[in-house]
Amino acid sequence: MSLAFPIHYIEPVFRPPSEAHSLILPVTNGCSWNRCTFCEMYTAPQKKFRARDEDQVLEEIRCAGQQLIVQRVFLADGDALVLPTRRLLNILEAIREHMPQVRRVSSYCLPRNLRKKSVQELRELADAGLKMAYVGCESGDDEVLMRASKGETFDSSLSALDKLGQAGISRSVMILNGLGGQLLSEQHADSSARLMNAAQPEYLSTLVVSFPYGEARFRERFPAYRPLSQQQLFRELERLLQGLELEQTVFRSDHASNYLVLKGALGRDKERLLTEVRNAIERPQQANLRQEWQRGL
Ligand code: SF4
Repeated sequence: MSLAFPIHYIEPVFRPPSEAHSLILPVTNGCSWNRCTFCEMYTAPQKKFRARDEDQVLEEIRCAGQQLIVQRVFLADGDALVLPTRRLLNILEAIREHMPQVRRVSSYCLPRNLRKKSVQELRELADAGLKMAYVGCESGDDEVLMRASKGETFDSSLSALDKLGQAGISRSVMILNGLGGQLLSEQHADSSARLMNAAQPEYLSTLVVSFPYGEARFRERFPAYRPLSQQQLFRELERLLQGLELEQTVFRSDHASNYLVLKGALGRDKERLLTEVRNAIERPQQANLRQEWQRGL
């Protein structure tokens, strides 16, 4: 007799590329904010935000522990850290009890999730197994963030990243290349570099903004938005990289949305990465760029 998979999913379910080998454990459904005008991840009716029933989640952890051997768990959906600390601790303790081989638990995190959580609470979460938070800052620029209805600012983003850092939770930050369009491209790159320099995250990745369902929703708050051409996206990336003064950050630009794949450690590889971007600007035919059909959007 085959056993049913112990975890109930409401599709679609998203996870960062680096969690491909993790057990995805939904502890919430959807995103508690869900207003970013570039994001369609949780707009389907079945993805309306709610916390999942705690007893059901704990039971799923118990059953998963009997059936699966996993070393990593990703707490889904869009911002699991919106849950109260006590509930998160119960989940982490259940993972430790029923899946003792798990080495890392991670989740997406919105800066607003941490407004009411102290560094001490985050330390308790870290001690209970939460090792990594993926924070979609998207930009460090207040005007770009306002235009995109992100509900965050430079200061709120930095405050959350600082709290996570002080608690010993690794920060993996996403910045959206092209989010400011042609009008705000330079200030988007400069302010994002400033935010990263202030926060010194352990991981930084850039993704290219894309609108699979069209730009109409995004333009409602940003009528002057004009998308960047591929060359303009590279120029913005060059400007961002130029402005970054990072000491020990793993940098990736390898998400499916990127035309140019970049990988390195910052600051060590800054000049090499800049050379690769400049090559793509000056000699795109020789730069081994992803074609549109390879971008997997
Ligand atoms: S906070 Fe994240 S998941 Fe939620 S709407 Fe914005 S980009 Fe999408």
